[in-house]
Amino acid sequence: MIKEKGILFILSGPSGVGKGTVRKKLFEEETDLQYSISMTTRNRRPGEVDGVDYFYKTKEEFEQLIKDGQLLEYAQYVNNYYGTPRNYVEETLEKGQDVFLEIEVQGALQVKENFPEGVFIFLFPPSLDELKNRIVSRGTESQELVLNRLKEARNEIEMMDAYDYVVVNDEVQHAVDKVKTIIKSEHLKRERI
Ligand code: 5GP
Repeated sequence: MIKEKGILFILSGPSGVGKGTVRKKLFEEETDLQYSISMTTRNRRPGEVDGVDYFYKTKEEFEQLIKDGQLLEYAQYVNNYYGTPRNYVEETLEKGQDVFLEIEVQGALQVKENFPEGVFIFLFPPSLDELKNRIVSRGTESQELVLNRLKEARNEIEMMDAYDYVVVNDEVQHAVDKVKTIIKSEHLKRERI
């Protein structure tokens, strides 16, 4: 029997919408998905582990990965690079396993060019005021940076039409349940007799 390829799921959405929180909870509950660990040049935060949260790279190493065509997509976000390892994603899908990416909007649009058959999920804030509060209440950033992030979030929301599904992140568990339903229905859609 020919083994079907896995499905690529992409969770994306504006800065501050809670993508990371939804993804972490989803992975506590959903064990059949493979999370693609991204590469980044940003500093490791307390508690983060190399090879678990990210693969931490220097700027030079990251730029070499770009040159060598090793990234499926990459983007610059707040002065750091973030990118998805191409081999891991392609090989895992080939094996028939589903892969899950949690990435920002510019990167998701690049993935769409290479993998139009991927399932693109846009996480939407419960309201724009709420998103503004979340971005402002991160607290550690200068007013200029906060204004930039708000502007960026507005631009990102305009990209929503390119996605297959929109999930409102009103409450984490609701959003996780909706993503799980999307995963199930995509499996049903692609089931072959
Ligand atoms: P953080 O620094 O808070 O972990 O992540 C910052 C942003 O980068 C988040 O919006 C996250 O979704 C995004 N991100 C994480 N990994 C990747 C990746 O591989 N590619 C892209 N384009 N964005 C990523």
